[in-house]
Amino acid sequence: MAEIQLKNVSKRWGSFVGVDNFDLTIADREFLVLLGPSGCGKTTTMRMIAGLEDATGGDILIDGSRVNDLEPKDRDVAMVFQSYALYPNMNVYENIRFPLKVRRVDPGTHDEKVRRASAMVELDDFLHRKPAELSGGQRQRVALARAIVREPNVFLMDEPLSNLDAKLRVSTRAQIKNLSHELAVTTIYVTHDQIEAMTLADRVVVMKNGVVQQIGSPTEIYDRPANAFVASFIGNPAMNLVEGEVADGTFHAPNVSIPGLSAADGKVVLGFRAEDANVVQNGGQINAPIYTMELLGDATMVSVRIGGALVSVKADKTFRAEIDDPVSIEVHQGHCHLFDAETGARIG
Ligand code: ATP
Repeated sequence: MAEIQLKNVSKRWGSFVGVDNFDLTIADREFLVLLGPSGCGKTTTMRMIAGLEDATGGDILIDGSRVNDLEPKDRDVAMVFQSYALYPNMNVYENIRFPLKVRRVDPGTHDEKVRRASAMVELDDFLHRKPAELSGGQRQRVALARAIVREPNVFLMDEPLSNLDAKLRVSTRAQIKNLSHELAVTTIYVTHDQIEAMTLADRVVVMKNGVVQQIGSPTEIYDRPANAFVASFIGNPAMNLVEGEVADGTFHAPNVSIPGLSAADGKVVLGFRAEDANVVQNGGQINAPIYTMELLGDATMVSVRIGGALVSVKADKTFRAEIDDPVSIEVHQGHCHLFDAETGARIG
């Protein structure tokens, strides 16, 4: 059992705020992903939970007990970093056993624990090899096994896949998800990769400049982003965002006129996803010359420029046109998001 509570946790260095009033309860066995661009405070949040960094404000509780003043080794959390930090002179077996030795776990149990952990990450055949004789993916699995062998209640993972190539990243990602389920541990996982976040998380925390922007399931965050930043950060391609004005329920911007919106008059940012619009013969709400076209295989991505923004929609893969040809785009009713022009907060 490991429920983690962060109560208004902050980290300041002088006047610089690295993490601002982070407030969240992470349920026992939850897979929580901290997501955001470089420098948003993800790693700092994780390091405070691990005890590698002191919080300058707030309380951190594990299973109801305040752990702010506990040493990292007394917190029952195991961390996996993007750099595997393996001992080059030890073979795989010894690397995995190392935490058991440090913790003075009964030596009689080591062999069984090491073999169980290495089997879980399919390293059984590599136990005698040194880290230099392993691939990047295998090294990362040694790092995972070394965390597993401790049988912690909490896994903290800081971009554990970032050194792996695209294919290995996908398979190791699936393995991490399975492991966390199988081991029934609470997992906090840091990444700047929104695909990783969406595929792994029970809940995602999106952060920017030390401030939590939204906490929700992957679907909630994708379907109802709390603000324009989250909207632009989640999804590939990013959500189309167009600055304009609402008058009498119709959104207006250069080359754009979208009626049927229930929003007050005034300046707004309108958002819609590429999959929520179509290229039509004519009569769409957006009419502009084609700026770029990209063949995606299953579709053609067609982009136009509206003010300073690029608006992209998926057309059929058979779509044929030239750059600068006029194109008409229909945005599906009920799939528009509206954000405050000043604050970016969702208003509809
Ligand atoms: P990345 O994805 O690049 O690892 P991150 O979201 O994990 O980024 P953090 O490492 O948590 O970001 O850093 C948050 C902010 O705090 C950054 O602006 C960083 O420069 C700053 N920061 C981190 N450590 C210190 C420190 N020791 N002193 C001052 N500022 C720091």
